[in-house]
Amino acid sequence: MLNQTRLLETYYELIRVKSVSGNEQALADYLAKCLKDLGLEVKYTYYENSKNSPSIYSVLKGQGLGEGPTLLLTGHMDTVDVASGWNTDPFTPTIEGDKVYGLGACDMKGGLASIIETLRYIKENNVKLQGDITVAFVSDEEVQSRGTYNLLTEHGLKADMAIMAECRFTDAAVGFRGRYSINVSVKGKTGHASRYPNVGENAVISASKLAIAIEQLPTLVHPKIGEGTWCIRHIEGGIKNTLSVPDKCDLLVDRYVVPGESFDTCRDQILNAAKSIGLQGKVEVTLVHRPLPYMESFVIDENLPIVKSVVKNFRNVTGKEIELSYDKSVCDSNFLVTIGNIPTITFGPSGKNLHQSNEFGLISEILDCTKIYIDVIQDLLG
Ligand SMILES: [Zn+2]
Repeated sequence: MLNQTRLLETYYELIRVKSVSGNEQALADYLAKCLKDLGLEVKYTYYENSKNSPSIYSVLKGQGLGEGPTLLLTGHMDTVDVASGWNTDPFTPTIEGDKVYGLGACDMKGGLASIIETLRYIKENNVKLQGDITVAFVSDEEVQSRGTYNLLTEHGLKADMAIMAECRFTDAAVGFRGRYSINVSVKGKTGHASRYPNVGENAVISASKLAIAIEQLPTLVHPKIGEGTWCIRHIEGGIKNTLSVPDKCDLLVDRYVVPGESFDTCRDQILNAAKSIGLQGKVEVTLVHRPLPYMESFVIDENLPIVKSVVKNFRNVTGKEIELSYDKSVCDSNFLVTIGNIPTITFGPSGKNLHQSNEFGLISEILDCTKIYIDVIQDLLG
């Protein structure tokens, strides 16, 4: 039997322990203790220059005879900062019926609690597993995903499949778009403004024309994920205090991509657009610097055992059908799939108002989700 009281107590405690991005140490220590209490060895890792922002990971070894697959259960420990407008103390779990209010109550301390209680269940009931369960609680997801990136690149985190316990319960995600921030620098020719347009070539005008052309560029369309998007987010050029024709103007373009699109294809599109409006040789396209690589888009096969098992056990536990969805944004799952090569389904207890005041999680989903995790594990590793 699932120990529901202990599961919910753990969930409430996770809400009490503050873990705003960059300060996940206390929560990492709490979760590490939960794992150590199960006799597991816990490793800490800090991404570059982080003092209070560890990620932790551990392996629950299978006790079976065979060499089964390894399943990764993972989730981020960090929350965003406290938004204004809370009606309750965001660090005191406040229960109203099925709802529990608190910072991270939805995103995603319910998922972390479910993972912990799942491991306790496996251990205490001596469930024989052919394969291993790797568990990773990561930092910095809400900022740059440096926790997950660090585990994948510095520690060679590997698994045959993963459940990312992010807060999507009725609509498990099996694909995400990717994203780039692109700088488009347009050159003109300066001269005294009083002589313009006989003298000079106005980079602000050229960049404006190019911005309009970029917005109209097509993108690939993926049958499930849909299309990519272009968004001109910022434009800057010219010097305010001198009477000069602007000779440089920069556009900041946000590009969400779908599978098949890469920075190279986006750059080619922009350069072709520039050429078509007479700006050949005057435009430079670069990625805006980011300490980590940009997240690429991915989809996983809906017929993979991990996906089918979640679908089946969701039905068994809730009596309802789960929707397999494709997300417009990015999350840690992008790194797990595109860097770690780990097929990942994003599925965990949910709620509402994430990244806002009065965030809440749902007790019923935390209970059901934990049962589903346990069943999936027995399905795939049993
Ligand atoms: Zn999240």
